Amino acid sequence: LWSSISERFRDHVGEAAWKTWFISITPVMITTDEVVLATPSPLAKERLETKYREVLGTLFSEALGHQVPVRIQVRANESVTFPAEVSAGESRERDLFGSDPNLSRQANSKSRLSSAFDPRYTFEAFVIGSSNRFAHAASLAVAETPAASYNPLFIHGGAGLGKTHLLHAIGNYLRHNYRDKYVKYVSTETFLNEFVDAIQRNKTSDFKARYRECDVLLVDDIQFLQNKEAIQEEFFHTFNYLYGAQKQIVLTSDRSPKAIATLEERLRSRFAMGLITDVQPPDLETRSAILQRKAEDSGFRLDLSIIELIATNITDNIRELEGALTRLSAYSSLNQVPITLDLAQIVLSDLISSTQRLAPRDPREIITVTATFFNTTPVELLGQSRKRPIAIARQIAMYIMRELTELSYPEIGREFGGRDHTTVIHAVQKVQNVMQTSIETFEQVDQLFKLLRDPARQRG
Ligand code: ADP
Ligand code: MG
Repeated sequence: LWSSISERFRDHVGEAAWKTWFISITPVMITTDEVVLATPSPLAKERLETKYREVLGTLFSEALGHQVPVRIQVRANESVTFPAEVSAGESRERDLFGSDPNLSRQANSKSRLSSAFDPRYTFEAFVIGSSNRFAHAASLAVAETPAASYNPLFIHGGAGLGKTHLLHAIGNYLRHNYRDKYVKYVSTETFLNEFVDAIQRNKTSDFKARYRECDVLLVDDIQFLQNKEAIQEEFFHTFNYLYGAQKQIVLTSDRSPKAIATLEERLRSRFAMGLITDVQPPDLETRSAILQRKAEDSGFRLDLSIIELIATNITDNIRELEGALTRLSAYSSLNQVPITLDLAQIVLSDLISSTQRLAPRDPREIITVTATFFNTTPVELLGQSRKRPIAIARQIAMYIMRELTELSYPEIGREFGGRDHTTVIHAVQKVQNVMQTSIETFEQVDQLFKLLRDPARQRG
């Protein structure tokens, strides 16, 4: 994206001006409502502002599809303090590796297996629209040339808008095209838990080594660093180490670095050293395109009017768009009927009625309602019983929590008495599958959705 703008700028202003003024600019932030560029000197800034701001504005507006203000700042000179910090850390680390045979053995063999990436989350499967064009292009650039384009890359935006998808897409791409690179995906929660665990077991050097071996580190949901000083400190050092060693870092968050309360200033400024970009809720056209793509991919034929019905009613979360499709396709295959517009309206009534869309955000409520529905109690539901009806109710409750709240898998695990996130993932997938073949399960889930979204009950 940046290089294409750079080229178009050259076409506009000619080779000489481009070389003098443009070549040294770096993008700092490209989001849907703001573009910030950095120049090496106040002189360059002044020049760009007086002579070229309009051209830049036009180029970015064209690329984005709407007007966006372009701000120019002088690049902060980080080179004074930053490399010093890194090299200190680095040499300390080298000593460690040199003197501790266990550590170096581990670093060389055991954990150098890249994370497993969800094969469905690829760049090819990602539908591009004006709401995510930059985030997609920046992610692709990072995957194509790790550590050579934007580093770190910081992607922020609301829940269900494709951040995790993009991280996995980078991982999948690297897996295929750079087999030798060690690529690690971690949610901030896992990073945090592993760190706490390492401290308790006196294994912090293993923990450090594991992260510092990465060629590419993908960290999801960094907003969870909020209010956690010790882990911010640890993350700061990991970040510096990797950055100093010219390794690629990609971060996501549900809000911008500015909006993460109690984020240490030094971390905030590290995040701003690369590129900050965002994903926004998709527009109607993109929502329809996503639905069409997902329906096609699963071999499910849907009339355009139904795509439109879903796309006009579900507007701000792509996960919910997918949820609607899953439900329709389950209904259709269970009842062996094609989906008509009328039928879609009935099956999705809770999703498309604005009064019912006030989804409960309270996980405890989901647990209580589900327990009652299955004639059991919250205590049993959260307990260890493996008796069939309870185990099934528990899995359905996990599935519903995933659909109706914005909680992550580890968070859901915690709501269920501290279960592991892999248990939750397994439960969600299982319910999704069973719903396609069992009318009973489909109807149970369907009724629970409607119960939980019932405005009368929500008021009472
Ligand atoms: P986030 O991490 O931002 O909360 P996810 O990456 O988990 O969101 O996305 C939620 C769901 O929406 C995923 O199944 C993902 O594949 C899908 N999705 C998001 N954006 C797109 C897109 N542009 N094209 C296709 N699918 C998308
Ligand atoms: Mg995510």
